[in-house]
Amino acid sequence: MRKSVTVHQIARTGNDHHKFYNSKVWKAIRDVCLGRMPICASCYAAGVITPASHVDHITSHRGDWSLFVDMKNVQPLCHGPGSNNCHSRKTAEENAAGVDYIEEWDFSDVVKKYMEEN
Ligand SMILES: [Zn+2]
Repeated sequence: MRKSVTVHQIARTGNDHHKFYNSKVWKAIRDVCLGRMPICASCYAAGVITPASHVDHITSHRGDWSLFVDMKNVQPLCHGPGSNNCHSRKTAEENAAGVDYIEEWDFSDVVKKYMEEN
C-alpha cells in the first residue's frame, strides 16, 4: 500500500534515518563542510555573500546512508529565521514536488550500519 507524504513528514513519522543527524559521522561532515565553505552556496551562486548555518543534502538522502554521508552530496546553505532563506526554500520546493513514500520501506540495514559505525 502506498501513500504520498512529504519529506518532513517522513522524518516526523519516526523512521530511523532522522537519527543519522545525531551520528558522529554527520557532525564531522557538517564541521568539514561549513569549515571549508562557511557561506551559503545558493546565495553565492546569485552573487550574494550570506553566512551558512545549515548543511544540506543536494540530493535528498531519503534514508540512504551512502547518500547521507557523501561529502560530494552536501552543500552549505543559509537558514535564518522565517522562510526567506535558501534552506527553507529548497525544502518547500522538495515538498511541493512530493515523494512517493513506500510504507514497507525498510531502514533496518542502514540503521544497523549506522549502529556499527557509532
Ligand atoms: Zn542562502
